[in-house]
Amino acid sequence: MISDFHTHSNLSYCAEETMTPELYKEILSDPLRRKNPFEIDKVFITDHGMAIYFPKEIAWAWQYMADSSIFDAHRPRGNAIIEKHLRILGKYKDCGIFPGIEVEMMDDGRFTLDPEFRKSFKVLIGSIHYLHCSQKNGSSPIQILEAWESHTMRLLDKDIDVLGHPFRWLHYQIDGQIPPELIKKTVDAAIRSNVALELNSHYKIPADIEMLKYGAEKGALFAFSTDSHRPSEICDFTYHASCLESAGLKISDIKLLSI
Ligand SMILES: [Zn+2]
Ligand SMILES: [Zn+2]
Repeated sequence: MISDFHTHSNLSYCAEETMTPELYKEILSDPLRRKNPFEIDKVFITDHGMAIYFPKEIAWAWQYMADSSIFDAHRPRGNAIIEKHLRILGKYKDCGIFPGIEVEMMDDGRFTLDPEFRKSFKVLIGSIHYLHCSQKNGSSPIQILEAWESHTMRLLDKDIDVLGHPFRWLHYQIDGQIPPELIKKTVDAAIRSNVALELNSHYKIPADIEMLKYGAEKGALFAFSTDSHRPSEICDFTYHASCLESAGLKISDIKLLSI
């Protein structure tokens, strides 16, 4: 039995409208969907903190990363949405559906989540979707690599359970030229922090295989996730099975997060 530590509902702007806890319940009750190819016992719905706290145009403008007073101004809005969301998800725990959250770390080191709710979420995923140093902002690959490494190392020192899609953002910023040494350094840092590295199938990137191989050798903790945004992704772990095969590993060779 494995868990899906990262999925979205329509509370996230990037997920399809049909993505509801009810749909997850329906798919989990289908034995064929539930075992594809690993049997799933728990699903954590981990919507984006930034989609919960901010209206769409503010969420995607990313100004709150540098100016966290924008977060403070929207805190009551987000907290009210979280309270309602937790009440709804509470009805699904017997179906194996639990609340988690995916957050950004703002420049001041705080997450896009009121700490008051930290304990309400069984899984806290720290991910990178935006950095000030980026291709779009005219930064060089060296600047992007440095900014990514510094942000990731800082994130690993925080109270997160899972490092979300560790190399995805970087992969698309530097045309997939991720130095193998950086993959090793990240895996080593995650081990020291006891944070699970995510194998995420929403986007498929070659660094995942290297991360898996080196992580398995070093005894790193992994979280398998679909990061579902549309119904067809729910419970589909075929990418994870193919990554394991490419890395020459069996699922029993790796240490999986268990919550
Ligand atoms: Zn993400
Ligand atoms: Zn996500």
